Amino acid sequence: EKPRLLDDGEGGVLFFSSSYSSSSGFGFSSIEKQRQRLPVYKYRSAILYLVETHATTIIVGETGSGKTTQIPQYLKEAGWADGGRVIACTQPRRLAVQAVASRVAEEMGVKLGEEVGYTIRFEDLTNPDVTRVKFLTDGVLLREMMDDPLLTKYSVIMVDEAHERSISTDMLLGLLKKIQRRRPDLRLIISSATIEAKTMSTFFQTSKRRRGLEGEALEPKVEPAILSVEEPPGDILVFLTGQDDIDTAVQLLTENDRNDRKKSELIVLPLYSGLSRAEQELIFSPTPRGKRKVVISTNIAETSLTLEGIVYVVDSGFSKQRFYNPISDIENLIITPISKASARQRTGRAGRIRPGKCYRLYTEEYFINEMPAEGIPEMQRSNLVTCVIQLKALGIDNILGFDWPSPPSPEVMIRALEVLYSLGVLDDDAKLTSPVGFQVAEIPLEPMISKMILASGDLGCSEEIITIAAVLSIQSIWTSSRGAQKELDEARLQFAAAEGDHVTFLNVYKGFLQSNKSSQWCHKNFINYQAMKKVMEVREQLRRIAQRLGIVLKSCERDTTVIRKAVTAGFFANACQLEAYSHNGMYKSIRGSQEVYIHPSSVLFRVNPKWVIYHSLVSTDRQYMRNIITIDPGWLTEAAPHFYQYRQLTHMPH
Ligand code: ADP
Ligand code: MG
Repeated sequence: EKPRLLDDGEGGVLFFSSSYSSSSGFGFSSIEKQRQRLPVYKYRSAILYLVETHATTIIVGETGSGKTTQIPQYLKEAGWADGGRVIACTQPRRLAVQAVASRVAEEMGVKLGEEVGYTIRFEDLTNPDVTRVKFLTDGVLLREMMDDPLLTKYSVIMVDEAHERSISTDMLLGLLKKIQRRRPDLRLIISSATIEAKTMSTFFQTSKRRRGLEGEALEPKVEPAILSVEEPPGDILVFLTGQDDIDTAVQLLTENDRNDRKKSELIVLPLYSGLSRAEQELIFSPTPRGKRKVVISTNIAETSLTLEGIVYVVDSGFSKQRFYNPISDIENLIITPISKASARQRTGRAGRIRPGKCYRLYTEEYFINEMPAEGIPEMQRSNLVTCVIQLKALGIDNILGFDWPSPPSPEVMIRALEVLYSLGVLDDDAKLTSPVGFQVAEIPLEPMISKMILASGDLGCSEEIITIAAVLSIQSIWTSSRGAQKELDEARLQFAAAEGDHVTFLNVYKGFLQSNKSSQWCHKNFINYQAMKKVMEVREQLRRIAQRLGIVLKSCERDTTVIRKAVTAGFFANACQLEAYSHNGMYKSIRGSQEVYIHPSSVLFRVNPKWVIYHSLVSTDRQYMRNIITIDPGWLTEAAPHFYQYRQLTHMPH
């Protein structure tokens, strides 16, 4: 079969249709046979030819066709890693990085962390002397550019899952385009599962004589919304929106029900970022005979990961997406209809090994009228504070004029500049300040957290703040517990601090240390042991970074005022005030007068202190503040005089 090869001398674009030959006993063949059966294999020499002869190659192929796991190996086999050079493959998601790296190590018969390794934030499983194929998040590659702006150690960089259009992917593409001018030897591969390649190829000015993608589009099929377990064997993949509803669904499906024989055949597994390695392995391990695996996932399983035995897909039609409003300066996670492109991807996950079914929990009319054709790139619906500081740190001064695949709105850019200015990260000329700006840029966390850590050095509470930062970087330290909500609330109450969730975290951390980091203690107290282990790891890394930056490591011995001041120094923009006559706990954000409420998971839920700062917002029926701490409003003008004009606050009743 001839690949469709389009070539205008500047870049190569390769489309291939996926015809998966699964005829002869897939499960029992050798790894080598399996590799050869993947659709991408037929294009091995075409891909290598394009990479050899073009600076940029764009590859579009269906999910599961072998792009991620095979192409880096082909490159390695063709010598692109000779002479100490490294082949990089980026992914937007950390979990995908871990999963594909371990798969590739297995296929190559090497130990993960040696010839094949991976790096994600706070976890580096590579050895610079021997690692030749490296998987990493696009965010980590951006960070590497701070030390090595031309990414000199890499011979080929494969920017994978480009259709996801994450902020980091988009930034990376803009920056790689610049690097290419200085490094003609560098090869870029941009790979994607969908037609989004169009934007990419225009961006890299590749072929304009493009033809269509092979294979026909799937027509929406509307099936009843109930998935009967009477279906013939085959694993089920369910798409929900986030950890909360996934955990709830897992619990519903596993609740003890002795009369339900069908339920006992199910192996119900959650899939979202932040799972431990052991939990990930369960997802990929073969389903035992007589059992049916049910994987309940976020959109991570849409294109980044392929699960072999899936025959049935249940698509809720929704995903959780970030949205940012530059006027109110509020960013939150909103459950939104997915795009038609995503719906097709989800459907395509069914029946890779034999004919399957997709149950779409929405009507055909909804599909046609309500779902957008394609998603909006993250760049255009996010707060860009982190993005702007990174560009500044890379020496890109004219960020408004930066060459983006899809430019964000100038208002959002200006908002980001304003916040960074208030944080003391940028000066009047919008250049990084010294040392604060450079230090904040150096810490691999969002600038507000980094600023909080820096401030804690001056306030003498860095040990506590580093613990808090580590906890905040983890999804949740509590175990989720449907049915045991009362017990969970009681357990949480034992640690509750009047100052709020941040100080509560310190109590949990202290208890964990005093228990000698015992998993039983965690279990008894509804605390997620894996999460606490991760907190310890992240904390250790943050301490090292703090030391490198010359931040004094000191404990305030539980003087919570300085702790709250440090939080304010970073998160002053998230300050809210309880409405004076509110009987239902309504707060207004001080800057944008947005209505917000305390999330039920907060220890301050129903306590309703007058002034609070939140860490993040979640939006369901209302906007809920998650992880909050009480403050004195006077600290706001102290921390950010430009952001909060004095007048604004004195007008407010105390
Ligand atoms: P693509 O990047 O085109 O979506 P991948 O390279 O990720 O495809 O996957 C190719 C094939 O490799 C999949 O069909 C699957 O069978 C197999 N595979 C990928 N990752 C794993 C894993 N962690 N465990 C087992 N098989 C895997
Ligand atoms: Mg892939």
